[in-house]
Amino acid sequence: MKINKDRLLDRLFQIGEICETNNGGSNRQAFTPGDVQARETLVAWAAKLGGVAECDSMGNLFIHFNRRETAALPILVGSHLDTQPTGGKYDGVYGVIAGLEVIESIYEQNIVLEHPLVLAVWANEEGARFRPAMMGSGVFSGKLSQTEMYQSQDQQGMTYYEALVDSGQLGARPAQVFPLLAALEVHIEQGPILDATSIPIGVVTGIQGIHWFEVTVKGETTHAGPTPMSMRKDAVRSTTQIIQQLYQLVDAEDDQARLTIGQLRAYPGSVNTLPSHLRFSVDIRHPDEDKLQQLVDGIQAKLQSPEPGIEIAVNHLWHSPVIKFNDKCIQAIQKATEICELPSITMVSGAGHDSAYLAQVIPTAMIFIPCHLGISHNEAEYAHPDHLEAGAQVLLQTIINLSTAANKDSL
Ligand SMILES: [Zn+2]
Repeated sequence: MKINKDRLLDRLFQIGEICETNNGGSNRQAFTPGDVQARETLVAWAAKLGGVAECDSMGNLFIHFNRRETAALPILVGSHLDTQPTGGKYDGVYGVIAGLEVIESIYEQNIVLEHPLVLAVWANEEGARFRPAMMGSGVFSGKLSQTEMYQSQDQQGMTYYEALVDSGQLGARPAQVFPLLAALEVHIEQGPILDATSIPIGVVTGIQGIHWFEVTVKGETTHAGPTPMSMRKDAVRSTTQIIQQLYQLVDAEDDQARLTIGQLRAYPGSVNTLPSHLRFSVDIRHPDEDKLQQLVDGIQAKLQSPEPGIEIAVNHLWHSPVIKFNDKCIQAIQKATEICELPSITMVSGAGHDSAYLAQVIPTAMIFIPCHLGISHNEAEYAHPDHLEAGAQVLLQTIINLSTAANKDSL
């Protein structure tokens, strides 16, 4: 039972050519004409296999493959087709095209499954045009409010709802979970671990928990010349010390802890004026919820003891809990890697995915393949054809394993 590698690659590159950027990436943001064209291309390919497409009220696209009448629950495979403004050709697209390839291979080779298959394209996964990210799967899973998400605006002031209607992607089906046996997503790792170790398959056991903070450090504005150093309320000096302490805290934790200060701004931001205040973001991640909480407690403690004359305000912006994928789905993937004779490691995803939301309502797991140097959200994103083939092959075998196991024992 082999997938068709050439067909997989050919379709992947055909989608990649829709809104291709000058540097070989893609710019296909949610519900733009390019996104719609990619969806229509997919629907046309699927229709030749008898796939029936429908959108839900968030613009999530589902293609149903029911060759015979059955009461068995479907297995869902899929990912997303939207990209970052300077995105790559693999992030998301690969999971959708691999899903279609697996379904076509199953039909061609007359593999009879107990369970029907659904191919899903989740809407606005990237969050590049409309915030937040993973909006379609978030509403589908009941974790985000459709009413609120409809109001989200792009930079031109167009709302999500207007874009849905305008692009023809608003469907009659309510965006909410329906009965499914399992959800599977194959994706490039978007990190360097598989590439560095030359292992073709990552069996993903979960997704790191995340906390976001916005920290404001207030001092006092002064002219750069007259005030002696000892008489200043220097928010910059305090901020550098605080950030140093945050790094020390995270470095002392195990190597699964991640700290990112992605935004750092001084106000008013003039060369010869000591800033009145600095504002920086804190993104802290760990795959263990207890350890993540310890790190958060540690960070908050460091932020509560400013020097004299300095004030610190901390705003907690967001928490995405640690996600543990379904054990039986993970086992089915592991068994698939053995059957396919492909080396694998278990790993936790550092990036967010639609599967993080799905896992909260459906038995879910993910398969990772390497991407060159871990580069992603970048036009230079690249995955080796052999690895693209390997991931799809493992997806196919996982579906077969799940379909067999589910006969005896529900997930
Ligand atoms: Zn993605």
